[in-house]
Amino acid sequence: MSDTTRAKPMPTPETQHYWDGAAAGELRLQRCRDCAKVYFPPRPFCPACASRNVAVFAASGKATLYSYLIHHRAVPGFTPPYAIAVVQLAEGPRLMTSIIGCPQTPEALQLDMPLQVAFQKLDDKITLPVFQPSKGA
Ligand SMILES: [Zn+2]
Repeated sequence: MSDTTRAKPMPTPETQHYWDGAAAGELRLQRCRDCAKVYFPPRPFCPACASRNVAVFAASGKATLYSYLIHHRAVPGFTPPYAIAVVQLAEGPRLMTSIIGCPQTPEALQLDMPLQVAFQKLDDKITLPVFQPSKGA
């Protein structure tokens, strides 16, 4: 399978910490120092109170499966069927991602199943956080 035609995210100054974290094996979120809100996607101000007093931190990588849909059509870089999932991070925010390490079927993809982050390196600039079923769950 070739990934050369797969659409890739483009890091921006506001999201660079996120991509740097993924490349380093960390899922980085941001937390507001004024109201304690944890949020995603990356932005330089708090979505709850608009404070710019925000900090980046490494999340636990733990999540549960919130919702998903299964695509059956071929898209460059993906082999159907594949699931596009929304996971609920342990820290609160939700994240759209892929689920790896299990069949892409409704039987295998159980809502609320425990997941753990993993990282898929696409190229030198982009490593994608994906999720896999938690071991021993
Ligand atoms: Zn805030």
